[in-house]
Amino acid sequence: MNKKIVVVAVLALSSWSSLAFGERIAFINVNVVPMTSETLIEAQTVIVDNGLIANIGDVDDIPISDDLLIVDGTDRFLMPGLAEMHGHVPSAGSRTVNQVLELYVVNGITLTRGMLGGPSHLRLRQQILDHEVLGPTLYTSGPSLNGRSITSPDQAAELVRKQFAAGYDFLKIHPGLTRREFAIVAETANELGMPFAGHVPADVGVFDAVAAGIATIDHLDGYMQTLMSPNIDPSGGFDSFFGILLAPHADRAKIIDVVDATRLAGTWNVPTQSLFEHRVSSVSAEEMSQWPEVRYMPAATVRRWKQAKLDMVNDRNFNRELADTAVSIRRQIIKTLHERGAGLLLGSDAPQVFNVPGFAIHRELEFLVESGLTPFQALQTGTVNPAEFLKRSDRSGRIKIGYVADLVLLDENPLQNISATRRVHGVALRGKWISQPDIRKMLKRLQR
Ligand SMILES: [Zn+2]
Repeated sequence: MNKKIVVVAVLALSSWSSLAFGERIAFINVNVVPMTSETLIEAQTVIVDNGLIANIGDVDDIPISDDLLIVDGTDRFLMPGLAEMHGHVPSAGSRTVNQVLELYVVNGITLTRGMLGGPSHLRLRQQILDHEVLGPTLYTSGPSLNGRSITSPDQAAELVRKQFAAGYDFLKIHPGLTRREFAIVAETANELGMPFAGHVPADVGVFDAVAAGIATIDHLDGYMQTLMSPNIDPSGGFDSFFGILLAPHADRAKIIDVVDATRLAGTWNVPTQSLFEHRVSSVSAEEMSQWPEVRYMPAATVRRWKQAKLDMVNDRNFNRELADTAVSIRRQIIKTLHERGAGLLLGSDAPQVFNVPGFAIHRELEFLVESGLTPFQALQTGTVNPAEFLKRSDRSGRIKIGYVADLVLLDENPLQNISATRRVHGVALRGKWISQPDIRKMLKRLQR
């Protein structure tokens, strides 16, 4: 091999591979947002060793040894990394997978739940842990269980066992399962101790889905249907896109019943409100396609997004009042889920309609705040709540000694203004420090 080829091969490993994992890092004089409670602890030093938070204390009390990588935290805010709990990760080895994973990382996302998995994701999950691929810690579903992939109750049970044996973290439910098939999936999954999550099949409905033990309901799927009076048929052609056409008939007094059923069953919710609002909002497709983050998406994807939005707003059944009513009902459901103590998780469903991987999580946080959560409560859905939901054995989601050092350093206080999560100064991922110049370099490379 001649010298030129060697140089090219090294560069092809991209900028991150030159950064060491397991670095010893000292964040000095930083404001800590520990997420243990709604507090800000000023003038702290945080020491990271071997991917874990080794020490925290007043800046004057913590000794700094020579071998530490120093990060000046003055006027900056250190919080736990965020989770994208409804993401779509391209197949390992595809052209776009590194793009998506890196967009997550530069946006402060250190954990993602991949909602449409396949065999390659099992490999990818390990490659990320082994530091062969830069990306957030990956939890992955198996291939979708839906009206096409499930053909009979017996075959459903077999498929669940197969995905369990293959090592997927959970099962992804899509629409189309019959009541009988869903019951068999639930029964088999519960027997194996494997979570099942995602959509609520129309034949099943939220009440029976939570009673069967569904781990998460995503997109608030099926909630609008529970708000109908008995004389309204919630099925058939009348219903489309998470029950939007049902919105004028919704009885909001019923929200509390479905929310309490969810809470009592221990089901978590990933509202993916940005998926809904981006599709129906009064912001034009043209304006959305000018958003700064859209430059990281392929032109063909942006064209598809524009078309999807236009198809929705130009539909003869669609009008502004309908959209606003549906949005307001969904926001009320989110707020009620929070108030009644039901579990909420942060997820955007990127890369759907104008949800650019990584960037979309900041928009989702803003929608949660617009729904009535405080910034702290919104941040919980992406930090402590995912840790609790996933029951991670390595402790995460908080800044505490012994916890995983998946951290994001921000230029502004996210407890004061939720949009501060966009101001990422650097990211610590399993002990690797990704600095502001690293992020700038990566973003430059990721532009289309
Ligand atoms: Zn999805």
